[in-house]
Amino acid sequence: MEKISIVVPCYNEEEAIPLFYQEVEKINHLMKKVNFEYIFVDDGSKDKSLEEIRKFSLVDKNVKYISFSRNFGKEAAMYAGLKNSTGDFICVMDVDLQDPPTLIPEMYDYLTKDSYDCVGTRRTTRSGEPPIRSFFARMFYKIINKMSKTEMVDGARDFRLMTRQMVDSILEMKEYNRYSKGLFSFVGFRTKWLEYKNVERVAGSTKFNFGKLFIYAIDGIAAFSTGPLVLSAVLGILFCLLSFIAILFIIIRTLCFGDPVDGWPSMICIMFFLSGIQLFCMGIVGVYLSKMYMEIKGRPIYIAKETNIRR
Ligand code: UDP
Ligand code: MG
Repeated sequence: MEKISIVVPCYNEEEAIPLFYQEVEKINHLMKKVNFEYIFVDDGSKDKSLEEIRKFSLVDKNVKYISFSRNFGKEAAMYAGLKNSTGDFICVMDVDLQDPPTLIPEMYDYLTKDSYDCVGTRRTTRSGEPPIRSFFARMFYKIINKMSKTEMVDGARDFRLMTRQMVDSILEMKEYNRYSKGLFSFVGFRTKWLEYKNVERVAGSTKFNFGKLFIYAIDGIAAFSTGPLVLSAVLGILFCLLSFIAILFIIIRTLCFGDPVDGWPSMICIMFFLSGIQLFCMGIVGVYLSKMYMEIKGRPIYIAKETNIRR
């Protein structure tokens, strides 16, 4: 029998976990030729998530879990899940049922019958999301796709079914700053995209506020493009040229009309503007430097406190 590992990152999801397990089990029973293995990753939840997961692991030997010593973030949770999965196929899913489990049989068929290596999903609508958030999300995809050679699909979710081979190549990349949407795309392989309308979460609330998503977007750009560094260099050259023209203009004007003190306020404005640009460019360099700093430290991506997985 073939095995599908279901990797589920959970952070403060005590209400969603039982509903999730119940729904996915239905699909498990429908699919006669495969067996599901669950890998719940408790990302340092402060509620009763771990207790809920433990309960299921006692009655179902296919429920495995890893519990982190603190909150390491969804990326770390996904990495831990993939690393500990043993299935022939691996499915990453959110626990809030925003990723419809009913799609799993179709995804499985694409991998086994049509020789795809991966089936990804993207939502075509963003209903239930604040319009401003959707606007920035669209902008982000436009910008990152211009800057990066790695293709990022607008609306792509982390919900996907992959072959063992593809997951192994993802795990080969041991970088600390993980941006999975990019990693999935970077490794290549044949990907089939399924589309569906946005579903709202069954219980609990979102763990990503606007600020967190903004930082995540910067992480994504820094991880998959050096474009901003080039941009800051180009800006530097552009402003040098501009100031050279301005100097010539002022020298000629003073020679012709006199009064060199005229224009002091505009000078202050220009100074503010240019120091702003300078700080902006230094900030860009700083972002890459800080990423390198974290990478060089080689800290573990996650620290597990408790698990029922024995190797
Ligand atoms: N999640 C996690 N660690 C975090 C934040 C989120 O493991 O630090 C999990 C969360 O439990 C859920 C999934 O990641 O299963 C997606 O989170 P959420 O539904 O809050 O994101 P949204 O769907 O609103 O983008
Ligand atoms: Mg969600």
